[in-house]
Amino acid sequence: MRPSLLNPLFAPVTSLSGVGPKQDKLFRYLLDRSETPRLVDLLLHLPTNVIDRRARPTIREAIPGTVVTLEVTIDRHRPASPGRSRAPHLVYASDETGDVLLTYFRAKPEYIEKLLPKGEKRFVSGTAQMFDGTLQIVHPDRVVDEEGLAKLPQIDTVYPLTEGLAIGSIRRAMAQALQKLPPLPEWISPEVLRRCKFPPIAEALHRVHEPVELTDILPQNPFWSRLAFDELLAGQLALALVRAQLRRPAGVRNAGDGHLRHKIIDALPYALTNSQQEAAKAIASDLNQPIRMLRLLQGDVGSGKTVVALLAAAAVAETGKQAALMAPTEILARQHIKTIAPLAERAGLRVAILTGREKGKERREIITRLADGEIDLLVGTHALIQDDVVFKSLALAVVDEQHRFGVRERLALTEKGDAVDVLVLSATPIPRTLVLTYFGDMDISELREKPAGRQPIDTRAVADSRTGEIIDAVGRAIKDGKLVYWICPLVEESEAEGIEHLTNATKRFEILQKRFGERVGLVHGQMKGTEKDRVMAQFAAGEIQVLVATTVVEVGVDVPAASIMVIENAERFGLAQLHQLRGRIGRGSEASTCLLLYHEPLTEMSAARLKVIRETTDGFRIAEEDLRLRGEGEVLGTRQSGLPGYRIARPEVHAQLIAQARDEALRIMQSDPKLKGERGEALRCLLYLYERDEALPLIGAG
Ligand code: ADP
Ligand code: MG
Repeated sequence: MRPSLLNPLFAPVTSLSGVGPKQDKLFRYLLDRSETPRLVDLLLHLPTNVIDRRARPTIREAIPGTVVTLEVTIDRHRPASPGRSRAPHLVYASDETGDVLLTYFRAKPEYIEKLLPKGEKRFVSGTAQMFDGTLQIVHPDRVVDEEGLAKLPQIDTVYPLTEGLAIGSIRRAMAQALQKLPPLPEWISPEVLRRCKFPPIAEALHRVHEPVELTDILPQNPFWSRLAFDELLAGQLALALVRAQLRRPAGVRNAGDGHLRHKIIDALPYALTNSQQEAAKAIASDLNQPIRMLRLLQGDVGSGKTVVALLAAAAVAETGKQAALMAPTEILARQHIKTIAPLAERAGLRVAILTGREKGKERREIITRLADGEIDLLVGTHALIQDDVVFKSLALAVVDEQHRFGVRERLALTEKGDAVDVLVLSATPIPRTLVLTYFGDMDISELREKPAGRQPIDTRAVADSRTGEIIDAVGRAIKDGKLVYWICPLVEESEAEGIEHLTNATKRFEILQKRFGERVGLVHGQMKGTEKDRVMAQFAAGEIQVLVATTVVEVGVDVPAASIMVIENAERFGLAQLHQLRGRIGRGSEASTCLLLYHEPLTEMSAARLKVIRETTDGFRIAEEDLRLRGEGEVLGTRQSGLPGYRIARPEVHAQLIAQARDEALRIMQSDPKLKGERGEALRCLLYLYERDEALPLIGAG
């Protein structure tokens, strides 16, 4: 299936000279692959920095602190005296303007003497330093003779490293991989190439790995951008292929007269929020269109997505058809059914659950009832897509947390009915600019409001020099019967050797216990599950009033009565994590307080993060600010965390390319939906290179 011209790029890195079985492991680790990486994986590993070796001063002109390439004559060696192996091996060298000292620690004398032969001329490149009034280079990066100089890159690339894998090994492997790059067809349209000033892919790869200018490796420049566009186009095209597959024949309407929905709404112990109503309305209107629904429903945990999903299922049931809700885990599936079952029952909607736990007779019964149309909504896990699970007439598939499911699983569920409408639920707020990247062209509903009755959270940042005052305040709070989370970043001191100000949870627990006695409890990740559950239960019951915890409380804990949270070393947490943590309070009827203890001095970035968290509890705004801050933090040489699933495209740099890639994918789908022509063949190459070929079997051979 894979075009044979790509074969050289899919050869294993171990086929390169200098990459043996030992390096195999290191390259797997470096490139984050579970199997031996291929040359394409290596080539798409882009440099994070460059070293400019173009400065060629004399020794007297050399500026300490800069990288220089000096032309010197080797005068003499002073190896470390035997028995004093910690002393350096010194090499004295000079030119007509002065002397320079080349210093090597823990080096074999024979090796250094061969590298820098006495009386000969050598070119030495490295960072110049001033030491005791003498110019010095410690461990020069490069030492070459006249012949080697011609081949010495003027600009060296720097890659993120893995322990045990030297930068030189990566550069040598990269150079060989570039040599093996086959001529590749152009898959980008001439208009886009012109508009974006993209170079051909071969030029892009060469220029980022063998830069001619320092700026060649910057993500915003055309070389990197071209590769990012390729990656985004591959993603968009794969999504478009799947979407085309999902297109529904005209004429089917899946929403009924509203009688079941009214019953459910009447039975609710609360009023729907405006955004829930809007979402339910948009979904009903989609279901009523003779076009297949593909809608994303986004909202923070606790924003009330489940009831919206239930209303969608009810709309479908009104027409006598069925719905399925697939969650990624057993726990989530059971949580859904717990919320849904009582409401459904009152409306006469028949629901059931099917996970790996339902077995034997129980499972057979569910399957029989499903096939007979006696179940209106089936909630479950992957168990739903097993072959023998057959619906009488599935019309709606609700997929919770879809990015954890692959294309195949999603298709497998929708293929259990005709032209099934699809609703995706996501609890991770994704900025609108990024929704496209993950979900392609989907309609979007957002639940931005918190359900009524939720109290606002007062969030403040306090320097940890005031921890004493905070402890006093906690004392007053527990006298009032309040429940307090106290979050610490680490459990064991040994985890953070050298970072002294990190307060570990155990130590904090001891301090608070001395003060407040029995009312303080501790949970952390190293505790046994049952022990953790016991402490959590005590906290939920109010027997413990201060719960010292590591980030284990981040997920799956619901103690509505807890109304205070202290987060130590808040500057060390990411925005998303702070948001998740804080989401544990503000769930009850009481006003809540979140105190962010930070250690001074704050970096600009940490200060900006804390400001965002103080200002808003809106998960969408926090996600957007997170993206913006990461964009501002774009500094050459720091590794940016990209988009999960994307190696090259950076949301903060290439945001406008996402829409362009989408448009390009749509044009392709209009002109050549089966990727049959010459350009279609080129696009197939693209999908293989970026591992988006999963969608190709859907359209058959080219
Ligand atoms: P999500 O699935 O978005 O994380 P859920 O649907 O589980 O959130 O809802 C969280 C809780 O809020 C549930 O207990 C639900 O009954 C409740 N809830 C949902 N909508 C409202 C509302 N409009 N007003 C009050 N409570 C609501
Ligand atoms: Mg739904």
